[in-house]
Amino acid sequence: MGVKSVGLFCAASESIDPLYVEHARAVGNLIGEMGLGLVYGGAAAGLMEATAAAAKAAGGHITGVVPQLLIERNRVSALLDERVVTRNLSDRKDNILERSDILLALPGGVGTLDEVFHVMAAATIGYHTKRVVFYNVNGFWDGMIALLHSYKQQGFLRGDCDNYFVVVSTLPELKKLLNC
Ligand code: AMP
Repeated sequence: MGVKSVGLFCAASESIDPLYVEHARAVGNLIGEMGLGLVYGGAAAGLMEATAAAAKAAGGHITGVVPQLLIERNRVSALLDERVVTRNLSDRKDNILERSDILLALPGGVGTLDEVFHVMAAATIGYHTKRVVFYNVNGFWDGMIALLHSYKQQGFLRGDCDNYFVVVSTLPELKKLLNC
């Protein structure tokens, strides 16, 4: 058992602090070194490409789950070992979820938020028991974690949050989690 395949959600933007690119590379390197598979959006952009390139260079297997529209726009990464084509963004979320043992969220925008909330909402209803790991470098996720805790305190969140998300801030913490 244990984690064999990591689903990745993260920024497509290129207009971000290079600090985040460095952290994404370090995470990709860890995933590759641990011999894990990486399953992600497969776009040649932003933190997705940075993480995938580092994972592949370190020996990881890269699966891109790509909606038809992005193929038509020629935005698909050349790094992919395996390409899975989906009809749209909704299919893609379920496809990444099914192929992954755990879901990792690096910094990102509305696309990343959509993905992590899709996964967490499905977990709260009992569709699966996979957790989202928020990689909280530079306190990027602080605001969102505070929001979730506030909702929990007010009784709006079902079940125990620890069952569907976890926050880590360092590479050793992430490694420990992926080793389980
Ligand atoms: P964002 O966080 O808004 O930058 O969106 C990135 C996330 O949403 C990634 O995890 C992708 O799976 C998906 N996504 C959004 N935009 C794109 C794009 N142009 N190409 C590929 N995936 C994208």
